[in-house]
Amino acid sequence: MESVIMNGELRNRDQCLISFEDRGYQFGDGVYEVIRVYGGRPFLMEEHLHRFKRSADELKIRLAWDEQELALMFNELVAVNEVMDGKIYVQLTRGAAKRDHLFPGQAEPVLIAYTDPASRPLDKMNKGIRVMTVDDIRWLRVDIKSLNLLPNVLVRQQAHDAGADDAIFVRNGIVTEGSSSNVFGVKDGICYTHPAGNLILNGITRQKLLQLAEAHGIACVEQAFTRDQLLEMDEVFISGTISEVTPVIAVDGQPIGNGKPGAITAKFQEALAEAVRSACPSADIRM
Ligand code: PMP
Repeated sequence: MESVIMNGELRNRDQCLISFEDRGYQFGDGVYEVIRVYGGRPFLMEEHLHRFKRSADELKIRLAWDEQELALMFNELVAVNEVMDGKIYVQLTRGAAKRDHLFPGQAEPVLIAYTDPASRPLDKMNKGIRVMTVDDIRWLRVDIKSLNLLPNVLVRQQAHDAGADDAIFVRNGIVTEGSSSNVFGVKDGICYTHPAGNLILNGITRQKLLQLAEAHGIACVEQAFTRDQLLEMDEVFISGTISEVTPVIAVDGQPIGNGKPGAITAKFQEALAEAVRSACPSADIRM
């Protein structure tokens, strides 16, 4: 039986019972993170835990463990579950209380963490994906990684039903991000992505790619672009903990560039793979 962590303690997966009055369940009143594990080692865990703490602080949910304690806990979880290639899902809710919109006085926040297998989306990473643009109907604090993913769920399904692989949000004509990823475009050798702020989740992968761009001499700017400009890009790709760097070869049925994954996208894929290899030496990272 796999183990999970509930409020700091390891227990069997079937003994992790959550109240139906948990505010995560009734209000989506909580935050989460997904951390990738390669070759038995969590990748960029510090960065994820830092964002987790920030999300909790923004919602004023008390996190009873500091980032170091959480890292120890999650390393132990990965070890006991013998995760080689997988992910850690971590969630913190404001806890269980009589249903009332006001913050409860008494509730104890509930932290859970579990692991699941994950594999690299190599087929999509090699061939690219087709996306559709959708209206960004989300609230104005999507920088907080909250449990409220209903718009993301709906547009992902909408894209799937329309035969596309994913959806990209557009707010007032401006491309913000993907349904579970950040979006980059390359035009004339320069890479563009929406600036961090309240209108996107500042992806950990996005931040890593910005660092890698600098290290590899790829010009990259945090500058927003419109849907029309997106269609005119030479290359487009999405980034995320699970999607890594996945090329986008068509938007709303129109090919991007020559309709094939581009060279700068490939450079980012290789640079990220190299970062994974050096942080997680047992990782089996091939393109
Ligand atoms: N934006 C959204 C809306 C997401 O859900 C994700 C995935 N967590 C991302 C961006 C990418 O973030 P990260 O690189 O930290 O996975």
